[in-house]
Amino acid sequence: MHKIDVAKFLQKHGVIKKKQTPDKAIKTVDKLLKEIFYAGYIEYLPWGVTRRLGHHEAIISIDVYNTNQKRLNAKETTYSRVDLREDFELRGLVNCICCGKKYTGAPSTSKTGKKHNYYKCNNKGCQLYGKSIPAKALHEDFVKLIKGIKAKDNTIDLALRIFEDVWQTELSEKAIEKEEMQKQKNEIEGNISKFALEAIKTQNPVVKQEYEKQIESLSKELEPIDNYLSAKIDYKIPCRTSQKQVVEALKNPYSVWEKYQVIQKHRFYNFMFEGNLTYDKNSGFRTPNLSLPLRIFSTYESSEPTQVEMAGIEPASKKLTDR
Ligand SMILES: [Zn+2]
Repeated sequence: MHKIDVAKFLQKHGVIKKKQTPDKAIKTVDKLLKEIFYAGYIEYLPWGVTRRLGHHEAIISIDVYNTNQKRLNAKETTYSRVDLREDFELRGLVNCICCGKKYTGAPSTSKTGKKHNYYKCNNKGCQLYGKSIPAKALHEDFVKLIKGIKAKDNTIDLALRIFEDVWQTELSEKAIEKEEMQKQKNEIEGNISKFALEAIKTQNPVVKQEYEKQIESLSKELEPIDNYLSAKIDYKIPCRTSQKQVVEALKNPYSVWEKYQVIQKHRFYNFMFEGNLTYDKNSGFRTPNLSLPLRIFSTYESSEPTQVEMAGIEPASKKLTDR
């Protein structure tokens, strides 16, 4: 099974336009796979972002890899700068309904000495500047919102079987690549010993030096190959965990969300949504822009219909929300 089969599957389910050419459809599949595996990264915090991304290198194009890296690294900096506390777990992720700037978190103590947490807009030019939103209310509304994201029936198991197959294909390609590398290594090593032998045999110092130069340059060529071959990476483990994680995330994002620490929550938030959510004190959250995997495999059921259009998947502007 290949990416084109995934594309066909998605076309059959009306996610990608049927008329779309194979290479365009595959681009959508690539994006989807990237997003899906991105969810898997969440579980691998102890590994460090770069290494985790490396595991999926084969399945992710170098462009996507670089973008992802930038995206993730940017997040890291935000994490270290912002004091991410449980009190304001959605700080930086929710925007002001009026000006679109991020809400900030502000603790406050009442006259009676009781602590209250608020979110507020810190933009002096905004009509809502300084108006506080109880953090508790915003958090409760957020939980309501993600509880409204549910898996579409019958799509997930089938989809994940396809991903599994695509992954297996990538794995076998990896194995072939490894074999190729081993062949190259043997060849270079063969040449090195040949030159070494010649260098010992020759009496001419100029020729000897020439052999030594060759040996040195071959050793340099060997270095990256050795590194590649000695890296002990079990690609299967992140894949399995990633898929388990993804299934759970798609079926019931809330169950995943509730058990996470703040940093994980922020990563997971980026798996669920495209861009920040917007919140209004009176009317709550505006309809979220779900991420590509959620748009395909899940559905968002809002209790109140809203005017806000969901950002369609690039190839199909079909609304995935059933109202
Ligand atoms: Zn504002």
